[in-house]
Amino acid sequence: MHFQRLRLSGFKSFVDATEFRIEPGVTGIVGPNGCGKSNLLEALRWVMGANSAKAMRAGGMDDVIFAGSGGRASRNHAEVTLTIDNTDRRAPAAFNDHPVLEVVRRIDKGDGSTYRINGREVRARDVQLLFADASTGSNSPALVRQGQISELIAAKPQNRRMILEEAAGVSGLHTRRHEAELRLRAAETNLTRLEDVAKELESALNRLRREARQADRYKKMSAEIRALQGAVLYARWNEARGAAERLQTEAAEAIRAVEETAREAAGATTRAAAAEEQIKPLREAETIAAAVLHRLAIDKDRLEREGEALAAEVERLTGDVSRIDADRARETQMVEDAQLALSRMAGDLEALETAIAAAPERAPELEAAARAAEAARVEADAAVEALAAQA
Ligand code: ATP
Repeated sequence: MHFQRLRLSGFKSFVDATEFRIEPGVTGIVGPNGCGKSNLLEALRWVMGANSAKAMRAGGMDDVIFAGSGGRASRNHAEVTLTIDNTDRRAPAAFNDHPVLEVVRRIDKGDGSTYRINGREVRARDVQLLFADASTGSNSPALVRQGQISELIAAKPQNRRMILEEAAGVSGLHTRRHEAELRLRAAETNLTRLEDVAKELESALNRLRREARQADRYKKMSAEIRALQGAVLYARWNEARGAAERLQTEAAEAIRAVEETAREAAGATTRAAAAEEQIKPLREAETIAAAVLHRLAIDKDRLEREGEALAAEVERLTGDVSRIDADRARETQMVEDAQLALSRMAGDLEALETAIAAAPERAPELEAAARAAEAARVEADAAVEALAAQA
């Protein structure tokens, strides 16, 4: 893999766009301490897909963006482009159309990195694989940083094996194998899930079959119901049509009857008008008769009231007569009683006179008695007379 160019913009100390050309043969970078030599190598690792901030000597990946200096403001993004010669067409099939590959990594503050190969956006994994296939990459032992040689001598056998595999050009295969294993595991998981889904679909299918049978029965029954409803509706329609015809006949008859009645009514109205004319004098006579009748009724009422007063008077007089008759009977009885008393007194008087004649010594006493008896008799006579006069 032949790198042609490394272009940096906003990456670490390279705030302005800087192009680093890598010509065939050996290319060296010379400069004083802190001028940014290591930053260039880090830019190379970074564009190859390095994902460890520590390997970039940074706290977080955003720290690779130019952080500002005394006279320059900080930037919000950094971009590194690596141009690779692909004239021998050894790139993966997906990117093998062009003689030059341009790999771009860009980071925006807070938004993470994006990768493009020849303008097409790709995954970080695709970029890492591209370099792994060429036995290089961000972690490749081909890129040796300061102090790394002594680190490699003291490294574990596993890490040394990586260097050997890298040298043998099979590290890409390892990466692919790992990827294939991951895919295989994912496929197995998918298969298990598919079996579950198939089971679920099986039970759903059974349920749907049941529902389909029910729907079929429902359709048949609906059709029967519709047919029956149709028959019922036809029968009702027939009945309604008969009724309508009957009603039309009746209506025609009724119209005729109405017309007849209207004619009769017109005749009756004419006759009524004529009768009205004839009735006018009768009405006047009726009014007069009514007035007379009213007056007669008043007279009748008055006479009835007088009759009632006379009847009451007769009744009262009849009562008086009965009472007088009773008084007369009683007083007649009293006269009779008084006459009896008188005749008894006359007897008594005679007896007294006889007694006086027979006993002159008792004469004064008997004369007093005789006088009393006489006075009583006179009084009784007067009473009898009074009673007789009353009777
Ligand atoms: P040495 O020879 O000592 O190893 P060097 O030439 O490799 O030095 P680097 O270590 O690559 O130099 O660069 C260090 C410089 O980069 C320092 O001046 C540091 O301020 C600057 N620098 C690092 N990160 C940033 C950043 N995010 N923004 C601005 N400048 C940065």
